[in-house]
Amino acid sequence: MRSIQESLITRLKIPTRKGNKVLIRRCTNCGNTRNPPRTYCNICQGTDFKDLVFGPKGEITTYSSSYKRKATDTQRFFGNVRLFSEDGKDSIGVGGIFDVQSIDELEIGQKVELLPDERYNIFKLVED
Ligand SMILES: [Zn+2]
Repeated sequence: MRSIQESLITRLKIPTRKGNKVLIRRCTNCGNTRNPPRTYCNICQGTDFKDLVFGPKGEITTYSSSYKRKATDTQRFFGNVRLFSEDGKDSIGVGGIFDVQSIDELEIGQKVELLPDERYNIFKLVED
């Protein structure tokens, strides 16, 4: 059963970020991916995993902006990005914020790059 209330005990005590790349694990038995990585597979209960690395290259799949209560409030831009593996054949969807000044700079399908940060997924726009 998939649950967000899954025990914290099954979380791996390893960083899920390495610079500007995201680390996730794929079950070698059934192919299920776990993000964040866990000690076991929630589909087949397998414990044998292969580490996969995604990023920093990706493209925007959705975006939006925060609500401004006052004109002086800082507006933030966030959304989802499809991050690609190094060979570009595999991808995962991750959420994060965009390092831009206006929502007009964002477009679905636009190329982005994950910035190195230990806590947040911050994306900057890149040219093709
Ligand atoms: Zn499995």
